[in-house]
Amino acid sequence: MNKNIILYALFLVLCVQPTKAYSVFDFGYSDLENANPTQLVYNIGVYSFLGILQYLLVSAIFEWKNPMPKNKLRMENIKREIKYGTTQIFLQVAYSMIFYHYVYPYCQWYRYYTINSYGLLNFGYGMVFLYIWTTVLGYWVHRIFHFRFLYKHVHSVHHSFREPTAFGYCATHPLEGISEVNTVLHLAELIIPIHPLMTLFFFEYITVNEMMGHDGGEYDHSDHYRHHLYYVVNYGDTIMDEFFGTVYNSKNYPIKAKCTYVESIEDRTEAIFMKYK
Ligand SMILES: [Zn+2]
Ligand SMILES: [Zn+2]
Repeated sequence: MNKNIILYALFLVLCVQPTKAYSVFDFGYSDLENANPTQLVYNIGVYSFLGILQYLLVSAIFEWKNPMPKNKLRMENIKREIKYGTTQIFLQVAYSMIFYHYVYPYCQWYRYYTINSYGLLNFGYGMVFLYIWTTVLGYWVHRIFHFRFLYKHVHSVHHSFREPTAFGYCATHPLEGISEVNTVLHLAELIIPIHPLMTLFFFEYITVNEMMGHDGGEYDHSDHYRHHLYYVVNYGDTIMDEFFGTVYNSKNYPIKAKCTYVESIEDRTEAIFMKYK
């Protein structure tokens, strides 16, 4: 069977499954009376397990499709990515669960926003807002992480993966994942009425997009792989990079980054090898 069909089918299953799990267990009881520490610990355990499972499976599919040889160097790189990545997912889940248990119930939208009163129009404008919000803040939070102090103490962990794989999308310093994704999304929930399921949908969307970016293949829509090769280009969505003049321009980089996984890339035509040419 065509590899692409298997990939898309697995994507659908893997992305929908955690969404359902969250909706049944989390948002049905999310109020102050029921927010007890035992439930919190249970949720952190269950959802970090599901999240890590999803991370490993979907990233493995990307890696299976990636034309780079699975040599010792690449496998060492993946092992290191998984070490940071699994820790990061556990921390992100814990952070978000604490937010939903102890912060979100105080938010003024919370009682109004039961699943039944959740209209299509609200869904539409919430999603547009989330798209703009995450595109703008995602770009700027990342750029701020490139300021000297933050780069040295936080963001350099992520950039230690110069030629990342899909597994590396969340291989960061603990502070980075939490501020770049979770805090940005939860802040939006405090500003306008956004149902947690919309946040989750966006979280999944960002996750898959980020995996594609770090895989560096044909689905790397905002050319994030080159951000790892050249550091100061392609910080976020291409719209933002074009607007702020940080999009990659081959004229500025006459000396191309070297591919450490293969000897020669001359005859390779796959999307990922084009990033080195
Ligand atoms: Zn960066
Ligand atoms: Zn990255």
